[in-house]
Amino acid sequence: MRFEAGELLGVLTTQPLDRTLDYRAPEGGCSLGDFVEVPLGPRRVVGVVWGRAAGGWDPAKVRAIHRVLDVPPMREEMVEFLTRAGAYTLTPLSAMLRLATRAPGLGDAPGMRKVLVRGHGEPARMTDARTAVMDALVDYDDAPVTQAELAQAAGVTPSVIKGLVKAGAILEQDSPRDLPYAPLDVTRAGKPLTADQEVASGTLIHAIEAQAYGTTLLKGVTGSGKTEVYLEAVAACLAQGRQALVLLPEIALSAEFLARVEARFGARPAEWHSGVTMTERRRCWRMVAEGGAQFVVGARSALFLPFRDLGLIVVDEEHDTSYKQEDGVLYNARDMAVLRASICSAQVVLASATPSLETWVNAEQGKYGKLTLTSRFGDAELPEMRAIDLRGQDMPANQWLSPALRAATSARLKAGEQTLFFLNRRGYAPVTLCRACGHQIGCDDCDARMVEHRFQKRLMCHQCGATKAIPDKCPSCAAEGKLAPVGPGVERVAEEAAAAFPDARIAVLSSDLFGSARALKAQIAEITEGAADIIIGTQLVAKGHNFPLLTLVGVVDADLGLQGSDLRAAERTFQLMRQVAGRAGRAEKPGEALLQTFQPEHPVIRSILSGDEEAFWTAEARERQAAGMPPFGRLAGIILSSPDLQAVFDVGNALARADGPLQAVGAQVYGPAPAPIARVRGRHRIRLLVKAAKTTPLQPALAKWVAQIKLPRDLRLAVDIDPQSFF
Ligand code: ADP
Ligand code: ZN
Repeated sequence: MRFEAGELLGVLTTQPLDRTLDYRAPEGGCSLGDFVEVPLGPRRVVGVVWGRAAGGWDPAKVRAIHRVLDVPPMREEMVEFLTRAGAYTLTPLSAMLRLATRAPGLGDAPGMRKVLVRGHGEPARMTDARTAVMDALVDYDDAPVTQAELAQAAGVTPSVIKGLVKAGAILEQDSPRDLPYAPLDVTRAGKPLTADQEVASGTLIHAIEAQAYGTTLLKGVTGSGKTEVYLEAVAACLAQGRQALVLLPEIALSAEFLARVEARFGARPAEWHSGVTMTERRRCWRMVAEGGAQFVVGARSALFLPFRDLGLIVVDEEHDTSYKQEDGVLYNARDMAVLRASICSAQVVLASATPSLETWVNAEQGKYGKLTLTSRFGDAELPEMRAIDLRGQDMPANQWLSPALRAATSARLKAGEQTLFFLNRRGYAPVTLCRACGHQIGCDDCDARMVEHRFQKRLMCHQCGATKAIPDKCPSCAAEGKLAPVGPGVERVAEEAAAAFPDARIAVLSSDLFGSARALKAQIAEITEGAADIIIGTQLVAKGHNFPLLTLVGVVDADLGLQGSDLRAAERTFQLMRQVAGRAGRAEKPGEALLQTFQPEHPVIRSILSGDEEAFWTAEARERQAAGMPPFGRLAGIILSSPDLQAVFDVGNALARADGPLQAVGAQVYGPAPAPIARVRGRHRIRLLVKAAKTTPLQPALAKWVAQIKLPRDLRLAVDIDPQSFF
């Protein structure tokens, strides 16, 4: 649709309004989908020409579009994607547009700009500020960065950077904006595949050649070659001239993956995640739109990039909880990948060793295809899994490594092999207790206990990130020297391991112990080479790293995830334990996984040990079906929060009473109830849960329902469709 100069039209902006705004087409006219800059009050904002004018205004007062931006217009399929994703997640279109325009300087003209890169050597005089700048440059992996951005990343003023430029430690260069990415060579042969890898990749390639929508679960234990197989699918997709996207959960740790792509295709893919510089973001966004990027590796938000012709989306580790965005727009990238692919006739590959129950059921019911890789590549074998029944172990107070686990560790140390102690808890101790009065130190702003982080010598709230010094006396009864840590975190297990194995080299891998992704990557690389005998880690280590020398995994507390009433507690524990165990014995050496537990007869622990995955999923599916729970029924969470406790409950109760629109579609409301963490950052939180049959058209009913209630100013309401966690 074309609008001539002066014609009235509607523009969708990223401003938080629930409608389009009317403008006049600029000199030279404009078209549907054009990115434009429009005046809004005293400001100029970015928007998209969305359709005809809504009208209702005095036409004489309607202002003109300031200018049409020099970027490819939004494609119709992106409009459809944003509209449908917004309708599904009950998100206003303006917020969806924000997801689709998360690149700076979209309107800037192409041309040259000044960027900074590392020079040679260090200046004679280093200050803290200068060191911060040089460290920040290293964190960017030597990607070009602008002065403003670097100053912000390092937390210094631009004058510090100017000083470093003068001293020659940083060089200023003129760099053209937004160069295309190096082309990938898809004619190169991949590795020769094993028989079942061949079947899987053949099936995927066949599907891609049809250029139609389809979703396939690619299931196989860690090390079975899933990556190898889906890279073949990527090659087939690129060979057709279509673009490919691989989503990874812990993108900051993808150095290994990028190196693999480079080895396979002779060049690196474009990257899109929070660790990428703004300059690179802009380049990626533009090149994806113009076709100068064939292959993107990214975090979940890469789904909203303006692909010109997307033919394949891979969601690696599809069960990973980080695919669910838990603030702002609440969406699940796995489900949105399927939606996006269905709109643009693309294939989706969901890869996992331990799929989500949703995906497993979809595959069982034939909605998704299913390909299984049954064995590990080469001679690598799955570790033997055994329980250590802690009821039969002699465990002194404040020790968490049982004699059985210690003995197994000694044996591995003697053999020169690595051991991993896994505990999914950061810090030193989860609770700090006063032995005089029983007080537990909590966060001032949240209903959460503060976790001691001994390396940092501080207490930290894992809800809001607030920290405070470890007090000398009890804040409640003022007794001195009575505060004691209770329970273990990884730092405390490290302390115990150091005492038990004084000659071993011990490394702790926990996300909070590294100042930068770069430092973490470096540490992981060293450990891979054998720089540690014992690794102590949180779930950070469960995801995708290869430690070829690792042969023993000791799960310090296998019962940890089974406490609590979360719908997905069993599923998550099962996935995490299988994944952690998969870290052992990836190379030629057989591995062993020992699970310390007080309840070895618990059904989940039993199915983890037996390795009978199908039995686990079947039983779990049966239970959910009987309860009408997802994926057999539908859930939506409503979270209300406000600094005013009375106000949240008043609104919550009013909502619960006004459930007419929900009753009309046969849905039920539960609550309001305080959220499991009832106060976060000073805001009281309550939750309502809506449950409905699978086929219920729930979103329109939910929209009608919440629209009935007028919200006080300070009260926030968030609707969470298909909630993953229940906090
Ligand atoms: P997954 O993604 O299932 O964990 P990967 O694709 O990472 O498995 O494979 C595990 C390891 O085995 C990798 O180092 C990979 O390069 C290697 N590998 C897998 N399949 C083959 C093959 N057909 N030929 C050579 N090496 C392979
Ligand atoms: Zn807090």
